[in-house]
Amino acid sequence: MTLQRHFRLWTFLLIIVPSLLIMAIYTFGQISAAKQQHLDSLQQRVLLQDQLIDYWVTERAADVRKLSQTDTFRMLNSQQMKYTLDFAQQGDYNFDSLSYINKDGVFVMSTLSTGIKFPSAIGKPYYEAALAGKDYVSDVVVGRNSGLPIINFSSPIYDYQGNFQGLILGSIRMSTLETLLQDNWIGHTGEIFLVNREGIMLTEPRHIHTLVEKGIIKGPIKMKFKITDDALRNIRLGESGAATWIDYQGNKVLGAYLDVPNRGWTLIGKINEQEVLAPIYNQLALMAGGTICMLFLILPLAAWLTNRIKQPIDWLIQQSQWVAAEEYQMVAQEKLSRNMLHELLILCDTFVSMSSKIENTINQLKEKDAKLESKIIEIQDMNATLEEEISERQAAEEALRQLNAQLEHKVQERTVAISHYSQELAATNTQLLILNEELRRTSLADGLTGIANRRYFDVFLEREWQRATQEKKPLALLMVDIDFFKAYNDTYGHLAGDDCLKLIAKVLDTTPKRPMDTAARYGGEEFAIVLPDTDEPNAITVAEKIRVGVEKLDIEHAGSSISTHVTVSIGIAVISPAPDTLPVAIITAADSALYQAKREGRNRIKVAEKNLTEQTKFNNNYSI
Ligand code: GH3
Ligand code: MG
Ligand code: MG
Repeated sequence: MTLQRHFRLWTFLLIIVPSLLIMAIYTFGQISAAKQQHLDSLQQRVLLQDQLIDYWVTERAADVRKLSQTDTFRMLNSQQMKYTLDFAQQGDYNFDSLSYINKDGVFVMSTLSTGIKFPSAIGKPYYEAALAGKDYVSDVVVGRNSGLPIINFSSPIYDYQGNFQGLILGSIRMSTLETLLQDNWIGHTGEIFLVNREGIMLTEPRHIHTLVEKGIIKGPIKMKFKITDDALRNIRLGESGAATWIDYQGNKVLGAYLDVPNRGWTLIGKINEQEVLAPIYNQLALMAGGTICMLFLILPLAAWLTNRIKQPIDWLIQQSQWVAAEEYQMVAQEKLSRNMLHELLILCDTFVSMSSKIENTINQLKEKDAKLESKIIEIQDMNATLEEEISERQAAEEALRQLNAQLEHKVQERTVAISHYSQELAATNTQLLILNEELRRTSLADGLTGIANRRYFDVFLEREWQRATQEKKPLALLMVDIDFFKAYNDTYGHLAGDDCLKLIAKVLDTTPKRPMDTAARYGGEEFAIVLPDTDEPNAITVAEKIRVGVEKLDIEHAGSSISTHVTVSIGIAVISPAPDTLPVAIITAADSALYQAKREGRNRIKVAEKNLTEQTKFNNNYSI
């Protein structure tokens, strides 16, 4: 939306909306006030009219009374009576008819045309009242001659002696009262009329005549008056009040109703709301006209004001378009009147100076841009070279990667092959180990007895000799020789000899309990037992156990029930080796002890003499 339209719309809205609001509030207030005011005033006016009716009825009753009290009627002057009645009827009295009824209830004369035959008045309320000596005002009744609603007034006549002479009866059409009321009522649409307690109209509202004439309503009127239920209820109770309702013409009306005292009538006065509110609507129309005039005045003014703002803004728009198009030389070429709003003037000036700064800045930027451009080209060149290098490197890397993959493939193949070979190798190794073990076992074990052989003994003794030397501990050696074995062989045969050797070897091998104690077949039927870290008493104990163990052996022979027994002789040597000595010493010493045991009779143990063992220190150059 352009600035101008914006201004126009807002000016329009700012005038119209508040005006409409003010008018609505004002009119609403005025209408309520006017209604209330009129309802009050209607009640006042109805009250006045009510008093008028009361006065009028009283007057008419007084008129009749006055006639009845004239000399003419008191004396029943028959010549004057007709004249008096006619004069009275045509005068100010407004009666439609005046009649004289004698004391017997006979209509003697009437202002109505002669020839009308009146029935006897006896029994009629006006006659009975006169007979009782009272003035009488009837309710609204239908006139026998006219067929219209009328009121009867009567007053008794007495002669000067006070004798009842009859009565004067005056009838007045309700239309007479109607005219009287209407003449004193308000407005073009105002109507005033009487209804009875049932709400039946006793006088006709003036506009109803028109309807009757047009044949819309049938006359004479004996219709129920249209009013609100509340008002009708009040009317029945003889109460008074004010109300608004839709009348028989379909108009909305304001009205008041008031009881006429002692008559059983209610007087209703009303006026169309339209008429009452007409001045307010006129005012409203005036105000609306005023608003429109104001709008016509203000809109051009607003347009002029808008223009004052719009011109510099348009100029600024043009200048900013020059700046946007980088046509800086065009800026501020078009001159602008300096007669404008102060703030806009500042804005325009600031814009001009700002645009020159922008121009400078842009120029500088362009220079920098050009430099930057050349730099970018350089960088792009470098980049191209770099990209080339990178792609070369990538190609090389790719080749390398492929080679690597091939290599890895080969390595995997080799690994599989090696694993295959190594499995074979492991199998071969296991076989070798088994063979080796077998070899070791056969090379260190004695073939017949299964215990250590001479070779193992030599190595073992050497090692234990060294250990005992270092640890300074005693080492014991037992040399065991079977007694008379040559004879055994000769007796039982060589194979039996071998069996015997096996049994004895087992005793030798199992008797010492420590794991490091080692028994070996030293040669032929001679055994050696090395007991490391063993003193002489312990060595003797072991030797004794061996001797007894062999002695107790029951050696059975195949095919023979007799078992034989063999004995052994044992030589013991116990030495704590000195450094730089050889193990041959202990063998020599033990052998000597064995020889000694043999000599002393066999099946016994002999310990090498002390000096023999000591001697070894000096005979360390012995060789085996
Ligand atoms: P001594 O009581 O003095 O020892 O009398 P001996 O008969 O045992 O004499 P010697 O110790 O010299 O006997 C060696 C005999 O041992 C000679 C040989 O018949 C027997 N002999 C040696 N080696 C074996 C062998 O491997 N098997 C068998 N059956 N007999 C063997
Ligand atoms: Mg021997
Ligand atoms: Mg022997």
